[in-house]
Amino acid sequence: MTKGTYWLEHAWLGTYVEPGVTVEVADGRIGAVRTGTPTPPPGAEVLRGLTLPGLANAHSHAFHRALRGTVQVGSGTFWTWREVMYSVADRLTPETYHDLARAVYAEMALAGITCVGEFHYVHHAPGGTRYADPNAMGEALIAAAAEAGIRITLLDTCYLSAGFGEPPTAHQLRFSDGSAEAWAERCAVLKERDHARIGAAIHSVRAVPAGQLTTVARWAEERRAPLHVHLSEQTAENDACLAAHGRTPTRLLADHGVLGPRTTGVHNTHLTDEDIALLGDSGTGTCMCPTTERDLADGIGPAVALQRAGSPLSLGSDSHAVIDLLEEARAMELNERLRTRTRGHWTAAALLRAATADGHAALGWDDAGAIEPGALADLTTIALDSVRTAGPLPRLGAETAVFAAGAADVRHTVVGGRHVVRDGVHTLVPHVPQALAAAVEALRG
Ligand SMILES: [Zn+2]
Repeated sequence: MTKGTYWLEHAWLGTYVEPGVTVEVADGRIGAVRTGTPTPPPGAEVLRGLTLPGLANAHSHAFHRALRGTVQVGSGTFWTWREVMYSVADRLTPETYHDLARAVYAEMALAGITCVGEFHYVHHAPGGTRYADPNAMGEALIAAAAEAGIRITLLDTCYLSAGFGEPPTAHQLRFSDGSAEAWAERCAVLKERDHARIGAAIHSVRAVPAGQLTTVARWAEERRAPLHVHLSEQTAENDACLAAHGRTPTRLLADHGVLGPRTTGVHNTHLTDEDIALLGDSGTGTCMCPTTERDLADGIGPAVALQRAGSPLSLGSDSHAVIDLLEEARAMELNERLRTRTRGHWTAAALLRAATADGHAALGWDDAGAIEPGALADLTTIALDSVRTAGPLPRLGAETAVFAAGAADVRHTVVGGRHVVRDGVHTLVPHVPQALAAAVEALRG
């Protein structure tokens, strides 16, 4: 249904919960929002529970889903985890990646995610050989999102080097276009669609030589496209950048025109006070990925200070150790509580804003993330009668959803007015768990 009427038992209207809200949808957008409708109008689709704007997952590497569980055995660091991740990347083909991404994006829809930012760098065949269509892998991801019924911003990633002054390793050859100019030419062929936007990414300051950063930044600037970059996730990256360039990764990006309001730094974990000021003053966003950052033992980034400095916050499930945007949202607050031994750094409303409107804005969808006339008709309904959520709604109404509910409590997901998840069942992809198992099995054996 891209045209019709939804009745929301409870609706999150940005700062409070309103009971009995009728939402008219036309051409995939919200046409009217009527409050004071205690019963569903005739013919309306009923969304029982608490309906939020659709959730935006601002940072994803879909193939990392194949690592879930099995990488929890043994000890190590981010760098040892990366070796296992590369062994999966080696086996991806456009066909196997399509199947896995379709299942992963269906899992996201079941978790209430209506838009994903796919930070995509596995471009070529093993060894770096071009596919007949040099964008075969990116196209596989765009098609997978369409089949799973969610929006995607394909953040096509420039990845050229193993480290400062180091050529790509054997694993990384399939990530590299050889130069930022060649990357830009390949990306220029990708077309936007109703459900898909094209953005850019710099994998990291390790992976794009300083002299080529500007090429990527200019490509994004000319298209007014989002530009994402992994930033200071690891202290080793900071140390290597200081040794090579005598400045921090943030300062290096600033000096090459990468920072700005359409740019998002992903992780932003190990920053100096000057870095925080550079990011905040330029309006550069911060995408926190708390479940991955804790899984990979990265550390806790200074999200409070970044937001206070002017950096809007978004959230991502990144390595997909779990896919649960509500868990990402509360983890940001709970990490800060553990670090400071005080509570209440963000309200539930502020955490929801990161998971919805600000997440969409970071992906170039400024018209999504709110239940208001003119917005894209993307909705996520949380059950209020599960074992996790049963009980009265708290004072402002969203606290239970943010601090106690999880992906398993998502009952409905609506994207562009289309009912993609109904009563906890994906309407487009049958048997999502089996699809995930088969796709992971094909890659891991
Ligand atoms: Zn990442």
